Amino acid sequence: MSSFIYSASPARILFGCGSRTKLADEISRLGRRRALVLATPFQKADAEKLASSLGDLSAGVFAKAVMHTPVDVTSQALLAYETSGADCVVSLGGGSTIGLGKAIARRNGSDQIVIATTYAGSEVTNIVGETENGLKTTVRGPEILPETVIYDPELTCGLPVAMSVTSGLNAMAHAVEALYAPDRNPVTSMMAMEGIRALSSALPDIVKTPDNLDARSKALYGSWLCGSVLGMVSMALHHKLCHTIGGSFDMPHAETHSVLLPHTTAYTEQAAPELLKPVADLFGKPSAGVGLFDFAASLGAPLSLSSLGFSEANIERAAELALVNTYYNPRPIELDGIKTLIRTAWEGTRPL
Ligand code: NAD
Repeated sequence: MSSFIYSASPARILFGCGSRTKLADEISRLGRRRALVLATPFQKADAEKLASSLGDLSAGVFAKAVMHTPVDVTSQALLAYETSGADCVVSLGGGSTIGLGKAIARRNGSDQIVIATTYAGSEVTNIVGETENGLKTTVRGPEILPETVIYDPELTCGLPVAMSVTSGLNAMAHAVEALYAPDRNPVTSMMAMEGIRALSSALPDIVKTPDNLDARSKALYGSWLCGSVLGMVSMALHHKLCHTIGGSFDMPHAETHSVLLPHTTAYTEQAAPELLKPVADLFGKPSAGVGLFDFAASLGAPLSLSSLGFSEANIERAAELALVNTYYNPRPIELDGIKTLIRTAWEGTRPL
């Protein structure tokens, strides 16, 4: 066996139906007394309900979180934090709300408790991407990792089916890239495959019955594992390309991940077939790329960049941007290959 390094995440995880009722205990456990509850405008009512359930432990609600963590929203949230006398934050929501909590913690060292309601996985990473003047910069740091994460499957039953599917595929993308990460280890590979397995079994059931709690639990469990490996090992072509296409062409986050995943996997698989064989085997397909494409199609996920509004004229530019910074990928990043990849994803054709 090859040598490896494994660093376990220090985050505390509470998992299970009804676990949101442990929030007050968790705030006290951290030695905190006033929590500012964060949310998007869409989840404001849920955040207010949660805050009122906290009684004196609540410092109020700040419900202006938006995608990509713009620094001007963070400044407003920091002001709300100070004026309300808060000493920690509770982030109720997906990656956008969690990003805001991380941006606050990065600046004032606040403790964060996250109640995760999508499958994006940000709650278990020490990464935040912040946007200023149209530029998204990614930062890592120990203070960015939330202290406590509450996974309550009941809170995910309202996540619309289309978002559940793309968010679940977004989670799977973390795990697929973890399987060929240069700094992977046997534990991260085991977590990655278990995450992919859990989501591949849960998502079809969610599509059929969105409030199936067993399926919701399994999907959230899978997303925890997939998010955990995202936080522990390096990502490669797939995440870089999603970052480029999402950031430079203003494409939706989870949908871009789900469209690109079969194609980035097929591209990389040519150089690392043995590392991706467990994924191909799981789907019973000749390759992981084909398996992921057919799986996404069976769930009714968007299959083409064109259907997301990405213009054909941008293919060339996106490929060039993907080559601006060099980074590790099992199969080297070459302009012609990347152009073909993006064109196939734009058309939504099954990868070869
Ligand atoms: P999101 O947080 O933007 O949520 C999308 C919408 O769904 C929001 O309006 C939200 O309020 C709503 N929503 C969330 N949960 C819901 C539920 N259970 N029921 C009904 N509505 C619900 O989406 P996301 O995909 O979770 O996050 C995307 C953002 O997270 C991007 O900015 C991305 O860059 C970031 N992200 C960061 C990391 C990281 O490690 N730093 C990882 C993954 C994603």
